[in-house]
Amino acid sequence: MVAAVIRHDWTREEISALFALPFNELLHRAHTVHREYHDPNAIQISTLLSIKTGGCPEDCAYCPQAARYDTGVQAQKLMSVDAVLERAQAAKNAGASRFCMGAAWRSPKDRDVAKVAEIVSAVKALGLETCATLGMLSGEQADTLKTAGLDYYNHNLDTAPEFYGEIIHTRQFQDRLDTLAHVREAGLKTCCGGIVGMGETREQRAGLLQALVNLPEHPQSVPINQLVQVEGTPLNGTETLDPFEFVRTIAVARLLMPASVVRLTAGRQQMDDAVQALCFFAGANSIFYGEKLLITKNPDVEHDRRLFTRLDLYPLDIVEESSTVHADILESRVA
Ligand code: SF4
Repeated sequence: MVAAVIRHDWTREEISALFALPFNELLHRAHTVHREYHDPNAIQISTLLSIKTGGCPEDCAYCPQAARYDTGVQAQKLMSVDAVLERAQAAKNAGASRFCMGAAWRSPKDRDVAKVAEIVSAVKALGLETCATLGMLSGEQADTLKTAGLDYYNHNLDTAPEFYGEIIHTRQFQDRLDTLAHVREAGLKTCCGGIVGMGETREQRAGLLQALVNLPEHPQSVPINQLVQVEGTPLNGTETLDPFEFVRTIAVARLLMPASVVRLTAGRQQMDDAVQALCFFAGANSIFYGEKLLITKNPDVEHDRRLFTRLDLYPLDIVEESSTVHADILESRVA
């Protein structure tokens, strides 16, 4: 079988044509590609902790951590190394292979990066993969984090370039591309995706995926979030996205970035189990696990465990994820 080709030259028309396929045809194609590159029954599990909450000067219209919106979020300072370690150990005990740490900064100061580097080294020593999302980074800051043992850096494109100005005014789309370039140049893996259901059109969802797939390297991790509406944010009250359109977005992401891990992220709390199952069939193979996703709710751990059992899914360990699972290995594992 010839594996799907990794491309970086997708046109908007090609991507829109994938979105327009009959639903079953799209899912069949996406699942076929998924099986070429991944074990269809394995799901990578990450846990996300907010290590510095709220008080952010940016104006992302979906975000309850922006200081300018009245959302009831209490700003908290950067957590201590010991406090983060305790949570990382608990996440590991609950089955997480990667620990993601988020801080609500526009861009960290060098002294913040030095503290996070200390935290990263300590978490890494527990045997967990590490990921951080701290806002815009300079090249030197990315190097510092890489030296500390950081594996992934998360920085989302959020939405299509042409819709970006509707959502964020305090920084530009190009700023995001610049940070991603610094992250790649430092040798860090990139975790980069976006949010759907923010009032964008299907064409603009295609535009987000086009921007992701045509990056110089496909992000190793592609989080696809569904907007979580939070009272006090400008996007509260936005018309809810049809769940099948969300599944289509996952399927198209899988077709465009065959080797990447596609993650169901924010919005799982609002998604019923059947929709999640469709997402896993369409090519999603990672979730965030745990009760909180930064500061919004996530399905509880017990519910996720039951869902995994009902769907015969199992957690992917770190070693497997770092290499492509070939079809022959897969057949022997699944048999
Ligand atoms: S998404 Fe990040 S940068 Fe934007 S307001 Fe929230 S914490 Fe700040």
